[in-house]
Amino acid sequence: TAPLAQTDPEIAAAINHELSRQQNQIELIASENIVSLSTMQALGTVLTNKYAEGYPGRRYYGGCEHVDVVEDLAIERAKKLFDCAYVNVQPHSGAQANQCVMLALVKPGETIMGLDLASGGHLTHGSRPNLSGKWFNAVCYGVSPETNELDFDEIRKLAVEHKPKLIIAGGSAYPRIIDFVKFREIADEVGAYLHVDMAHFAGLVAAGIHPSPLPHAHVVTTTTHKTLRAGRGGMVLSNDLEIGKKINSAAFPGLQGGPLMHCIASKAVAFKEALDPAFKDYAKQVVSNAKTLAATLVENGFAITTGGTDTHLMLVDLRPKGLTGNIAEESLDRAGLTCNKNGIPFDPEKPMVTSGIRLGTPAGTTRGFKDEEFKKIGLLITKVLDGLAANREDNSKIEAEVREEVQALCRAFPIYPNLEI
Ligand code: PLP
Repeated sequence: TAPLAQTDPEIAAAINHELSRQQNQIELIASENIVSLSTMQALGTVLTNKYAEGYPGRRYYGGCEHVDVVEDLAIERAKKLFDCAYVNVQPHSGAQANQCVMLALVKPGETIMGLDLASGGHLTHGSRPNLSGKWFNAVCYGVSPETNELDFDEIRKLAVEHKPKLIIAGGSAYPRIIDFVKFREIADEVGAYLHVDMAHFAGLVAAGIHPSPLPHAHVVTTTTHKTLRAGRGGMVLSNDLEIGKKINSAAFPGLQGGPLMHCIASKAVAFKEALDPAFKDYAKQVVSNAKTLAATLVENGFAITTGGTDTHLMLVDLRPKGLTGNIAEESLDRAGLTCNKNGIPFDPEKPMVTSGIRLGTPAGTTRGFKDEEFKKIGLLITKVLDGLAANREDNSKIEAEVREEVQALCRAFPIYPNLEI
């Protein structure tokens, strides 16, 4: 019953340091967000003690009457949010949600087709080192060398040639709205299932400001912790109840044991928040902030792949500044601006070097930053990276100056006051 700070001061200190890091830097990693206190409260509850293998009303353990309420609410809210007939909230992560789809709909050795990692796809869409690339015959489609956007003639050609059983649309670093109708046409033409992984833009779909894949895809997966702003986890959605049955068997007992009921509770809490009209304003601001940040960077000599963004993220091509992603990430980090190096399409650099950085606005927008602040952030990024281009050996003076301005912005838009443990 003693507080964590007393029973385990080392872990408590690391948690407090992480709290302080989140409070005092500007989070620009496109896949991260800042959950509400209610969502976090649900995560740290007795629900973590409970085994609940199975589904509400059909469990393999006793004492599930209360966790059933939690899971039913999560499902009902998600169905409402995404206007669909079937949801499974049990996947522990986005990767496992994608595995559920593969286990349900494809057999090892069959062909799947997804966006190339190097063009902004995700590891779980058929990348060689991932299970999806080892157990399936994974064919990749890329983006157009001219526009860096999806090239549907090429996708169709590949699909006709390889006859995949599953076509996956979606990615981790693709900044444009994806044409789900065209994907479905191609899937129908070759007799494939269409799986849309909306992990990145799910919050924008929930808010109704981004086209929904649900009327078009056979099955949709997502993470819950990105733009959707719930606790860390995954989810599978569909309008096809037969596919839903297969997904349920794939999640349990196919892949997972006991669901993480505390995570499912945090999903339910965040879905309630996302059903509130305020979430629509949030999502609109996320996109507006991303457009402002992209435009500010272009005005200051950076290139943005595809020329801009329709969503919450952008890929900055650093080659006009003669920089690589790895050193840019490190210098920005020292200045209090956290982001990740990221390959750009047809990147000449190795994956640990890269020619780009990926930036996103979901976390900053949750903090309360609007266009004015994101314009300022764009100028701060420019200052750091122009300084680095001018003096690769030592950018510390500029990093320290920017760090001061970052701290001032963080103080003006505080998060999680008094949360030390
Ligand atoms: N799908 C996409 C498109 C993603 O971007 C990610 C994570 O970045 C995942 C799946 C995997 O999610 P998780 O990290 O929860 O396994």
